[in-house]
Amino acid sequence: MAFTVSLIKIFIRRNSRQRGMKFLKCSEDAIPPPTGKRVAIVGAGPAGLGAAGVLRCKGHEVHVYDALQEPGGMLIFAIPEYHVPKAGVRSGVQELVKAGVNFHLKTKVAGCSGDGVKLEDLVRDFDAVLIATGTWRSRNLGVPGEDLPGVYVALDWLFEFYQAQLGYTSMDEVPPLGHNIMVVGGGLTAVDATEVPLRYLKDRFNIQKVYLSYRRTRNEAPMSPREFNRLIEKYGVEPLELTVPTKFSPGPNGRVASATLQRMKLESVPGDKRPHPVPIPGSEFEVKVDAVLVAAGEIPSPPFEQGCLGIELNRDGTIKTDQKFRTTAKKVFAAGDVRHGASLYGLALKSGNEAAAALDEFLRTGSWS
Ligand SMILES: Cc1cc2nc3c(=O)[nH]c(=O)nc-3n(C[C@H](O)[C@H](O)[C@H](O)COP(=O)(O)OP(=O)(O)OC[C@H]3O[C@@H](n4cnc5c(N)ncnc54)[C@H](O)[C@@H]3O)c2cc1C
Repeated sequence: MAFTVSLIKIFIRRNSRQRGMKFLKCSEDAIPPPTGKRVAIVGAGPAGLGAAGVLRCKGHEVHVYDALQEPGGMLIFAIPEYHVPKAGVRSGVQELVKAGVNFHLKTKVAGCSGDGVKLEDLVRDFDAVLIATGTWRSRNLGVPGEDLPGVYVALDWLFEFYQAQLGYTSMDEVPPLGHNIMVVGGGLTAVDATEVPLRYLKDRFNIQKVYLSYRRTRNEAPMSPREFNRLIEKYGVEPLELTVPTKFSPGPNGRVASATLQRMKLESVPGDKRPHPVPIPGSEFEVKVDAVLVAAGEIPSPPFEQGCLGIELNRDGTIKTDQKFRTTAKKVFAAGDVRHGASLYGLALKSGNEAAAALDEFLRTGSWS
């Protein structure tokens, strides 16, 4: 099963390079006359854009709100150009703009508390609202020294890099790395956190060595053994399989200077697909590092806290919905990774399309039962 998911990931990564992105689900001249219904979509990632493309083709007035400088979500601000060319995403967005989708950029939406456009105002002023805000928070390791300068959340670091690469900030603002980098994790974010610095910033930071610490082995890694091997063969990455950081320590300048790792062994647990890593007592060892990129997994980032406007969250932070993508508050729908957890952009797009169909049914019938 894990192997199948890995193959799907490789397939999606490879194929995304060859195509542009299509969000609009009809030709511009096939858009029906206005229905008089207005929809607000919060989040312009693949889920939000996919939903916009369906709803516009039903004749609804569509407004998309996003906190960032341009639409695309992680397609623009988290995935490298060599996997998803930005031009393809931008041409898909342009098609939406030409078809009359309204974008409100650099506009954060917040529910119940927090700064930004109020979610409660959107719910009041629109006939329906779709939340598609993705997974922009990251798990931390919860170990001493994780807050030292030079220990970064990988997604945040990648985001800073793409901001600079896209020209929204300068390369001087990219958090500095150093000669020896340690990446912690085994998923797609760990792959990019390993490869992006080596492809684009090797000379700038005089990068000599990248370690990849993963708590299981490459055979269980979500990135797939093939990606793991590619990083080793292509870039000389040093794998530290079956290890977990237990501490980061500072050097004289206060920045991280070393990581203490503990070795793991794998034990199978009945009913669990993957074996569990179990610490081996007394197996700690130290590795000198100048920077650490922690890619321990992304978690959902709804634009509100539990219970805001009556919208409930699940224990894992995803927004609680039924099969029709309806949240526990009338008129409010959710789609994409914030609904089903960190996944792949094709799944987020599909979720946005399906949520839009359910939302359209609600607009046409007014039925919430
Ligand atoms: C490093 C990395 C690499 C990846 N590589 C791949 C890959 O190679 N292939 C693949 O298929 N998938 C990949 N993924 C996963 C893929 O990017 C996601 O599954 C997909 O983008 C989720 O789409 P989404 O629309 O649900 O959310 P997102 O793409 O995250 O979009 C959410 C949008 O909501 C906006 N937003 C959030 N909060 C607010 C707010 N309060 N107010 C206004 N706007 C807000 C954000 O700015 C963002 O634009 C990768 C993910 C990461 C982190």
